[in-house]
Amino acid sequence: MQIFKVGGAVRDRLLGKPVTDIDWVVVGATTEEMLAQGYRPVGADFPVFLHPKSGEEYALARTERKSGRGYGGFTFHASPEVTLEEDLIRRDLTINAMAEDDQQNLTDPYHGQRDLEDRILRHVSPAFAEDPLRVLRVARFAARYAGLGFTVAPETLELMRQLSDSGELEALTAERSWKEISRALMEDQPQVFIQVLRDCGALKVLMPEVDALFGVPQPEAHHPEIDTGLHTLSVLEQSALYKQPLTVRWACLLHDLGKGLTPEEQWPRHIAHEHTGLKLIKAVCERFKAPKDCQELALLVGQYHTHCHRALELKASTLLELLQSFDVYRRPQRFEEFIVACEMDARGRKGLEQRSYPQADYLRGAAKAAREVAVQPLLEKGFKGPELGEALKRERLKALKAYKDAASA
Ligand code: ATP
Ligand code: MG
Repeated sequence: MQIFKVGGAVRDRLLGKPVTDIDWVVVGATTEEMLAQGYRPVGADFPVFLHPKSGEEYALARTERKSGRGYGGFTFHASPEVTLEEDLIRRDLTINAMAEDDQQNLTDPYHGQRDLEDRILRHVSPAFAEDPLRVLRVARFAARYAGLGFTVAPETLELMRQLSDSGELEALTAERSWKEISRALMEDQPQVFIQVLRDCGALKVLMPEVDALFGVPQPEAHHPEIDTGLHTLSVLEQSALYKQPLTVRWACLLHDLGKGLTPEEQWPRHIAHEHTGLKLIKAVCERFKAPKDCQELALLVGQYHTHCHRALELKASTLLELLQSFDVYRRPQRFEEFIVACEMDARGRKGLEQRSYPQADYLRGAAKAAREVAVQPLLEKGFKGPELGEALKRERLKALKAYKDAASA
């Protein structure tokens, strides 16, 4: 049997990028031989093994054929006769279809190295169209390598467009899609992920609510970029520049969905878009079974981002309601994520990226003031049950009034 390093490890070594996980392919072996050497089987669908010591993945070389809709509709053929070239041709991109032996001799039948040098993301063969997940993968790689100058080859984008138009994207499971989406949002330029999906028509299918934002104007005085879609891309871009976690990036993507529902005669104003957007945010989260923390933050940011922007003008009682809605006493971290998401929203405006955002520290201070109200003295005064809750609220309101006065003095 022969063993080769494949996929991302080869690509990233040639790019001079750190290699984190290594995928291996084994040519000329049977499952029995692998087991005899101590490899542990893991693949439910096709023969993949874990190395007894390193724990890295070793897959038997295989060919694939499409036999129906979606990922379930694949048949695999692994045998000792399958060659390295046959295994590589089923891969998505040429830059991912190179293999290397232990002497670093490259096997590159589909010219991945050339495309790597030319900074091109190009599909390996027409079989690319057999798995719609590849549309998301290519967009994700575009987001990751945009900084190095990579773009999607026109003919690959065309195939992605055909896939998007064919209805195949709808056959993707929520789990497979979310895995790609969440990884893509954590890349260096997540806005490129959304842009590429839009360019090939996949965004319209996957997240029509986000796609609908393009072409929707906002008032130029607040939003020099005008277009709500472009604004959303910029907010996402800022969230990556500021190294925000997934929850924040996801909330950034969805915060303005309500603006896609505004009747045209009301443009460029978007009255109550914070509320109209909530059901759309929920729908997108449910479609991809986004984790609870992502869904929660997206809804809160959607509902309250304008509160944050107007923080300095809010009455103490409104501040208190805001803090209560966030349950800031038990969930301080979530409130912090809300604040930074709103800051990204403010920075995601053309020409205003560097403007200071005093609302952030102001709200942090307000949260601190409210949280510092101690329960003990109220207990000592004999308050309990609902009355204790009311008393606590009164004290917090007092603290917020004092905070507000001190801040404006
Ligand atoms: P990463 O750095 O994100 O791990 P990777 O290229 O190693 O990138 P993996 O998802 O680990 O990506 O997959 C390993 C290899 O398997 C890829 O490089 C590619 O050759 C192939 N591959 C994975 N998923 C697919 C797919 N859906 N269609 C075609 N080829 C795929
Ligand atoms: Mg990998």
